Amino acid sequence: MKHLETHVAQATARGEIAYQHCPACGHTQAQARPFCLACLRPDPDWRLARGTGTVVAHTMQYRAPTDDWRSRVPYGVTLVDLDEGPRVMALAEGALNPGTRAILCPGGRHALPCFKPVEDG
Ligand SMILES: [Zn+2]
Repeated sequence: MKHLETHVAQATARGEIAYQHCPACGHTQAQARPFCLACLRPDPDWRLARGTGTVVAHTMQYRAPTDDWRSRVPYGVTLVDLDEGPRVMALAEGALNPGTRAILCPGGRHALPCFKPVEDG
């Protein structure tokens, strides 16, 4: 499992979102697994998301979970359904109400992906 988590973390550090795609059934999943959660086929393929999706939920965080996050408080956390299918948790820039079309922040290099409203250009 460690090498799967590393694959996701390395993509996030590059400002990209990696997800898994099952060539047998087409299922997509954001959580790295050694098998497809839908049909249990081993070794799903890796793909990179286009970086667009729809906001499902959004909340503001006013307490830092660790000292590393203290300087970011308050910050938004959002759930985004990627256009490719997987649901990812991300940081938020701007108002990301449910239903808002969102795009990956350019040059975002955080521990989590960062999304902003598409309307921001
Ligand atoms: Zn499958």
